[in-house]
Amino acid sequence: MEIKNLVFIPVFAAAFAFLFYNLKRKYDYLKLGVKEDRSGNVSERYDNVLRVAFGQSKLLRESSAGLIHFMIFWGFMIFLFAVAESLVQGFYSGFTFSFLGPVFTLITFTQDLLAVFVFIAVLYALNRRFIIKVARLQGDSKEKSDAIIILGLILVVVITMLGQNSALIAWNNFVPGAYEARPVSDFLARLFFSSVNRDTALGIYEIFWWLHILTIFIFMNYLPYSKHFHVFTSIPNVYFTKLGKNKYALKKIDLEDENSEQFGAADFEHLSWKQILDSYSCTECGRCTAACPAANTGKALSPKRIMEMIRYRTEEKAPLMLKKVENNEVLEKTLIHNYITDEEIWACTTCNACVYECPVANEHIDSIVDMRRNLVLMESSFPAELNPVFKNLETNFNPWAFTSQDRANWAEGMGVKTMAEDPEGEILFWVGCAGSFDARYQKVTKALAKLMQIANINFRILGNEEKCNGDTARRLGNEYLAQSLMQENVEILNNYNVKKIVTACPHCFHSLKNEYPQFGGNFEVIHHTELIAGLLNDGKIRMHNAPLNEKVTYHDSCYLGRYNGIIEEPRSILERVNGLELVEMERNKDKGFCCGAGGGRMFLEETEGTRINVNRTEEAVKTEASTIASACPFCMTMMTDGLKTLDKSDSIEVKDIAEIVLENLI
Ligand code: SF4
Ligand code: SF4
Repeated sequence: MEIKNLVFIPVFAAAFAFLFYNLKRKYDYLKLGVKEDRSGNVSERYDNVLRVAFGQSKLLRESSAGLIHFMIFWGFMIFLFAVAESLVQGFYSGFTFSFLGPVFTLITFTQDLLAVFVFIAVLYALNRRFIIKVARLQGDSKEKSDAIIILGLILVVVITMLGQNSALIAWNNFVPGAYEARPVSDFLARLFFSSVNRDTALGIYEIFWWLHILTIFIFMNYLPYSKHFHVFTSIPNVYFTKLGKNKYALKKIDLEDENSEQFGAADFEHLSWKQILDSYSCTECGRCTAACPAANTGKALSPKRIMEMIRYRTEEKAPLMLKKVENNEVLEKTLIHNYITDEEIWACTTCNACVYECPVANEHIDSIVDMRRNLVLMESSFPAELNPVFKNLETNFNPWAFTSQDRANWAEGMGVKTMAEDPEGEILFWVGCAGSFDARYQKVTKALAKLMQIANINFRILGNEEKCNGDTARRLGNEYLAQSLMQENVEILNNYNVKKIVTACPHCFHSLKNEYPQFGGNFEVIHHTELIAGLLNDGKIRMHNAPLNEKVTYHDSCYLGRYNGIIEEPRSILERVNGLELVEMERNKDKGFCCGAGGGRMFLEETEGTRINVNRTEEAVKTEASTIASACPFCMTMMTDGLKTLDKSDSIEVKDIAEIVLENLI
């Protein structure tokens, strides 16, 4: 054994012992969170890891930044061979992976080329952060220093790896080792070391080797103290993300659990271990906040900050909890109120943009709704304007003051049957509160009913037996009220043995389809845009050929597009209208910008910053379309209000897809 090995072994042991200590510490903090079962769906989980983590699919949604990260990620994966080789050399000098034969050739060749790419990518990343100053990458001084340290360490890792290889090539008299192919190192060796003798080359190699290995040890031990801890946690975080067809459903609270003293989350330990892991995995890339409608219109809410605060609070409080400290001012604070304000919590529209964009598959909405649940269920603390909403939902089963007895008034004279009158229909038309009571949306309800009658669909409604689907109460944190509405609806639907439901409301659609199974309601649920697209395809309804020569732009409902992937159906319908030109807004499809009404925000004042609906309507106005097509009652209201604010109501109309189709039928 050489002196080098004798020195290396204790350094190696100390570096890994310290790393193990930090990983164990972080793991112990996670265990303070609420238990949550994320097992199952194993093959889908692996598939997700392959796509999102290794394929970097979410990062590549933003091409240039995505490509940089892709190169750094894959560069590092390939560099792991070089790191492993260097580590083993600490025990056995002269070790190489050359026994892998041609595979080693491929590895060395790729390592060399990727070293150049990573070098360029790091410089580009530094440029974006500090010279161009890309908005989403700007943060406080800690974030800046963190970025400089990590990017700097990556540069040192690359330079020292190339340095080692070049020196070794010079020591070998420029004859490549067995199965080695290192064109970049060879070039550098000839450039810098052509005149050095073999002893000097070996000395240079040893210096680079030690620099390389010490940088790796510093790097891996710095990670647990920085946002780059995601290097360890992002792959497990992606693995444990919610999957399956109901992946965007909110989790159900067991309200019957008599041992439960806490509903929702007031502090980090009320969140699940997965929600804490989310915070560990946040890379502070800012993609979530860049897409957030609240953040984009000057509200205090930033989903990135929510993750940072959960992590900060965990690091601050968890050690005290583990040591069973009882008196400490840190323990007198809570995550909400002291770190995350009520205003931030209520500003969320649950639009799902943050979750959709997050490259490490964080689930911000679950944490935000859990905090709302604590405010409503534990503290009875919510904005005053929600008092009448909750009261109306309890007594009238709709968010407004309309009596539930008037729920089916819209259908008068239309020959529409209720389930109570005749339960033998082929499909249930779930009308929803807006479709039943909102004067404007009643027209959409009628248009859809008319289309179904023209297509000879034998549909029924629940009439006065239908109650609010529970989406608004649930997303506003009133899980108790939401569950009672959902359970009552499920009971009625199951009593009538309902199998198939169509609705024009994306919120009802999402709730019935993805959240009712939690309460024993398992139905085939379709949105009216899916139904209409199918009717047109089957020739059951047909549109005329008279050209319209009009422009229309389609506003994606978050709960239809991002939540449920219904993006092409509404567009395919509009494209069938002769002479109607479909023009896209800048933010469209799964990047569509929220109207501002989701998550119960429809019923809340918007006093901070500028109005989300006006921001979105301005974008629609820019398309010069004469019609804004919508497929959601909330979106319709928000866009109509936006047009009024912009004084564009005379020149631009908001219409539902069902209305446009009905107007253009043969
Ligand atoms: S769900 Fe939408 S509004 Fe809420 S934090 Fe995420 S991006 Fe912002
Ligand atoms: S939560 Fe996700 S998208 Fe947001 S900053 Fe963190 S890693 Fe980026």
